[in-house]
Amino acid sequence: MSIIVKKFGGATVSTPEKIKEIALKMKMEMSPNDHLVIVVSAMGKTTNNLIELAHQVSSHPSRREMDMLLSVGERISMSLLSMALLDLGLEAISFTGSQAGILTTESHENAFVVNIKPQRLQEELKKNKIIILAGFQGVSEQKKEITTLGRGGSDTSAVAMSAALNAKHCEILKDVPSIFSADPNLIPESKPISTLYYEPLMEMTFWGAKVLHYRSVELAAVKKVKVYIGPSRAQNQIKGTWVTQFASKEMEMTFTKNTKIEKSDNNSNSFERSALLSINVHKKVLQIKIKSKTIQEALSILKKEFVDKEIIFPQMLHIDNSEDKEQVTLILTAPNEVVEQILNTSFSFYVDGNIFATITITGTGFLEFEIQDKILNSLKSSDVELFKVFYSAFSITLLIDSKCADQSVKILHTLI
Ligand code: ASP
Ligand code: MG
Repeated sequence: MSIIVKKFGGATVSTPEKIKEIALKMKMEMSPNDHLVIVVSAMGKTTNNLIELAHQVSSHPSRREMDMLLSVGERISMSLLSMALLDLGLEAISFTGSQAGILTTESHENAFVVNIKPQRLQEELKKNKIIILAGFQGVSEQKKEITTLGRGGSDTSAVAMSAALNAKHCEILKDVPSIFSADPNLIPESKPISTLYYEPLMEMTFWGAKVLHYRSVELAAVKKVKVYIGPSRAQNQIKGTWVTQFASKEMEMTFTKNTKIEKSDNNSNSFERSALLSINVHKKVLQIKIKSKTIQEALSILKKEFVDKEIIFPQMLHIDNSEDKEQVTLILTAPNEVVEQILNTSFSFYVDGNIFATITITGTGFLEFEIQDKILNSLKSSDVELFKVFYSAFSITLLIDSKCADQSVKILHTLI
């Protein structure tokens, strides 16, 4: 059975009209041999609104109850899309994550998928029904509690289900029609990227690219799920981005076409190549200082207080104790609402009130000094102060003041 998974993002299902449009598009495009699993996000700003609602009744909502509440967002969109498809005479049936057999860890609001038992879906697919699956949610393996996978997690639902059903590929369909060299809202001249491999995309999403949930890319790489990020409806010639395994021929083309910095002549037969692909940002980065002699101890202190205070554990970006042997500095980020929570909570350790940002340039050939030099020097004339620089195989990350983030992206994007 050839199965295709299509995931529709929140913006693409934000109104009843848009939901009906998607249903109609499915009817027009479907061929008789297609078996379709459609994963949906919550409509528009629903998840944010639900979070706000929770904070209106509780200053510190329980994480279990948050999952009960937030999982509702995707239930609304899944049932509405299913109704719209049924209205057009298509056979459709919606499932929650739990019904679809998505088993997760016990960690509320940030659960990981540990197993998928998709029997119910397979049975309905055999009856030629279109499956609508609520993204972002599952059920915990031990306690059978409803869980959610972290903000943006419906991409991970789509990739995980693609792997479990051995789908031909997984389409992530959005209002933003492809992966770009920078946020097209900030940089109108940013370039669409037509093919990418998993590793640089992982780097991009880890360092803030909102286009995909970071964990979905890692999972796609591990499970070898071919992913396509494309427009939810036909848009001015932009064809979307295919994400495949390392070193395909198309990939080489992308690297040669998409850059102004090139080591060798513009010849796709050359071997090693330096090229810049994209710029991504974490705009809310916090610095925490913990009195402790070792990094290990500092991390356990952090973990314990976050667990005690029921705050979702943040995404660690960097840890060092080089400034002061009695103190460990941790640099981290989290979804906006969690950053607010951290800033408004009193801990036994020091949370710096200054907000930082990371700017990450992803590409290849960073071992070449000229590339680093160009990147770092391009910011010199603009008075942007560099606090730290992190290196990895596919990227260079600059820690700066959050206020300088947009300006820095604009300057750095001139290199791409
Ligand atoms: N609705 C959830 C969120 O807003 C999950 C998702 O859209 O991927 O984070
Ligand atoms: Mg998303």
